[in-house]
Amino acid sequence: MNTAVPEYPQPLNAGRSANMRANRRKDTKPELALRRELHRQGYRYRKDYRLDLADARVRPDIAFTARRVAVFVDGCFWHCCPEHGTQPANNTWYWAPKLKRNVERDRAADEALAAAGWRVVRVWEHESIEGAVAAVVAALASAPSGAGRRAQA
Ligand SMILES: [Zn+2]
Repeated sequence: MNTAVPEYPQPLNAGRSANMRANRRKDTKPELALRRELHRQGYRYRKDYRLDLADARVRPDIAFTARRVAVFVDGCFWHCCPEHGTQPANNTWYWAPKLKRNVERDRAADEALAAAGWRVVRVWEHESIEGAVAAVVAALASAPSGAGRRAQA
């Protein structure tokens, strides 16, 4: 048996562990709230739409395929928000590289999307819905309308 493989770190307590699981889950609350509000305002989009780009495979939380606008709602912990993305003090050997990889993957996705003609909107989970919607709407407004675009009520 290879004992060099590190074990998954033990959570400090059950509450923190549950919190981290919740943070990680897809369809996080801020993401749902943003989708709901965009939908309410008449915007139509795809959720968790997989894009096989030349440089990467990415899955934006919200994708406007005709206008090529990709939206990500980034969790403060997992994506290292400058305001709330403090690194856990325990098990740093585990968390530091993991979180670093997340951020590197984000930047690689941004670059791959940009190279393929997409606009990328990233909002932090701590941002207000109003601010997030405004950022998405601004990106849509400045994006060239695609040929296959449907009327947006
Ligand atoms: Zn934050």
